[in-house]
Amino acid sequence: MSSPTEIPTYLNYINGQWTPASTGEVEVRSNPANTNDKLGTIAMSSLDDLNLAVSSAKQASRAWKKLSGSARGDYLFKAAAILESRVDEIAETMTREMGKTFPEAKGETMRGVAILRYYAGEGMRSIGDVIPSTDSEALMLTTRVPLGVVGVITPWNFPVAIPIWKMAPALIYGNTVVIKPAAETGITGAKVIECFAAAGFPVGVVNLINGSGPVIGQGLVEHPDVHGITFTGSGAVGKRIGQWALARGAKYQLEMGGKNPVIVTADANLDLAVEATISGGLRSTGQKCTATSRVIVQSEVYEAFQDKLLQKVQQITVGDGMKDGIWMGPCANENQLNKVLSYIEKAKSEGGKLVAGGNRLQGEGYDQGYFVQPTVFSDVTTEMTIAQEEIFGPVLALMKVDSVEEALALANDVEYGLSASIFTTRIDHMLSFINEMEAGLVRINAESAGVELQAPFGGMKQSSSHSREQGRAAIEFYTSIKTVFIKS
Ligand code: NAP
Repeated sequence: MSSPTEIPTYLNYINGQWTPASTGEVEVRSNPANTNDKLGTIAMSSLDDLNLAVSSAKQASRAWKKLSGSARGDYLFKAAAILESRVDEIAETMTREMGKTFPEAKGETMRGVAILRYYAGEGMRSIGDVIPSTDSEALMLTTRVPLGVVGVITPWNFPVAIPIWKMAPALIYGNTVVIKPAAETGITGAKVIECFAAAGFPVGVVNLINGSGPVIGQGLVEHPDVHGITFTGSGAVGKRIGQWALARGAKYQLEMGGKNPVIVTADANLDLAVEATISGGLRSTGQKCTATSRVIVQSEVYEAFQDKLLQKVQQITVGDGMKDGIWMGPCANENQLNKVLSYIEKAKSEGGKLVAGGNRLQGEGYDQGYFVQPTVFSDVTTEMTIAQEEIFGPVLALMKVDSVEEALALANDVEYGLSASIFTTRIDHMLSFINEMEAGLVRINAESAGVELQAPFGGMKQSSSHSREQGRAAIEFYTSIKTVFIKS
């Protein structure tokens, strides 16, 4: 196995140049399925490096915002083609850096390609309205202008799709960008930016700066020349970012955690509900903000649902996501593993009935990685910690209810409101769910974790700052409206 001195170093990308951190410091990235496998190092930057990146983005902003939307779109189309040509390599890097299985990593990378193409086309669409003036000799209309420099702070769980679904709309609407990806996936982040660099964006339009959250992330939020901050990550960090940005009047957008429920009614197609619960809750090792974590089942079908679910859970293959036949990879890092294991212990101590999994996987093929069994607790009640806090791991909490009204009340009894599903064949239950569920994404007879790039995405309550990402809705965050009144 290579030593850290032999592995590649991934630099910052500032003002069109790949640049080492002024600190000279780097951090080694290793594979959570096998920590002996070292991928490379990333720069651990200082505030001086950040200042250079922001000033380069500020300088580039003057010319970039003057380009037509279609000219900006051409650069996004080029980046999409380059990313597509590197899909296998980038997906492999993602799997080795954060553990997602290779087919999922490939799907995510192709989603990045599709998002780039979607926003490239957005450069040709209407950005304003004509509003009738009370003055019959005047023309009144709205147009949209970019914010200027946008700071992008992203998590490790979707290290290609999330940076792109923030950067693509920022760029198409005329902003320049400084991105700080999660340190855990700094190499995947650097490879995404390599595609932007190869697409020939003008110098300074796209800048990457790797480093720690408390130094570079906070520095970006507090920088006076950064006019918009878009963040996806934990609630603990997001709420502080919101306060810092608000204090200096910068626009901000926060996408945070979830505690997403699935409701299964007595009339539901149980096989469909089981498949969707497993896929929505345990794919990506449960490390999705939209992952199913609470499964609220009507008592008439509770036992039957649980039996079917447990049968399927036993069939899940856990291992290195680069290997064929593996359905679930490791936790992304040691902290995540320990966090999941401590939630499992807490659930046991609070009276949850462990019916599947519950342990770290050990033995051949597992000892050098952060593997945990897919885990199911039964008879969970709403005051238990695993019914309230985001675990971000492969743990399902089954809860029994007597009615759909009770199910909805339980589903809403958390501080989060990102995504929610119901499995039912009755239209009255569907309508109650649509009307009463406190979540930004409500899905009927479909898993909680599905997202389509052309539709608005975001949450309610503590899951989000309530603006929406993706699709046409992204224009609201990345632009300001200018009202124009014209008279000869
Ligand atoms: P995190 O710890 O909050 O980190 C997210 C980003 O914030 C990382 O780039 C991190 O940098 C940076 N950061 C950390 N401390 C900071 C600070 N003091 N100031 C500014 N930036 C700081 O979250 P994570 O563990 O990467 O991701 C998991 C969380 O993301 C989960 O809660 C999940 O639900 C949420 N998530 C939400 C969505 C959504 O759309 N709602 C989507 C995906 C994930 P470092 O990496 O250097 O720490």
